[in-house]
Amino acid sequence: MITVGVTAFQGAVEEHLVAVERALHHLGREGRAVPLRKTLGDVDALIVPGGESTTISALMQKTGMWREILDRAEELPVMGTCAGCILLATEVVDDQVPTLGLMDMAVERNAFGRQNQSFQCMLEVAGFSDPVPGIFIRAPLIRRVGRDCQVLAAMDQGMVMARCRNKLALVFHPELTEDVRIHQYFLNMVED
Ligand code: GLN
Repeated sequence: MITVGVTAFQGAVEEHLVAVERALHHLGREGRAVPLRKTLGDVDALIVPGGESTTISALMQKTGMWREILDRAEELPVMGTCAGCILLATEVVDDQVPTLGLMDMAVERNAFGRQNQSFQCMLEVAGFSDPVPGIFIRAPLIRRVGRDCQVLAAMDQGMVMARCRNKLALVFHPELTEDVRIHQYFLNMVED
């Protein structure tokens, strides 16, 4: 039985909760997804959704969840999507957002520019037999990854999905599609 927490300050929280429960069901695993508004509790894994990275960062610090996550930095599996990806990075290019820095990588906020703020496309992901749909909403790009990080998906513009041990970062929104393979992939990183 695993408990997956979803930081619930803003963003597509409900969609992540539903996607986790569907992915658990597909995998035939026991578990549940819970929204987190104050503390981390004793979750087995964490999802940090999209939204505004500055806001999520500030609220994480205010509630104390920031400290709790850092205290479990080594063993806690974390998936960050879009703003969540920014919060996982050690470096934000040309910006001052305080990040958790759990993955050795540099990200650039709003990297697709004004002309292409939101769009959808199919993405080849390493290890997946078929492409996954990616929804990009004022998305960042991953500009550099450390030696421990594995790039799982990239586009002409840059890297869009990376993994570093038990941390997974994607600049797009898998929770806004019906496809739960990315959530399944993340749950496979979480031990019972
Ligand atoms: N543009 C937002 C940021 O920089 C991220 C957008 C999103 O999460 N959809 O924080």
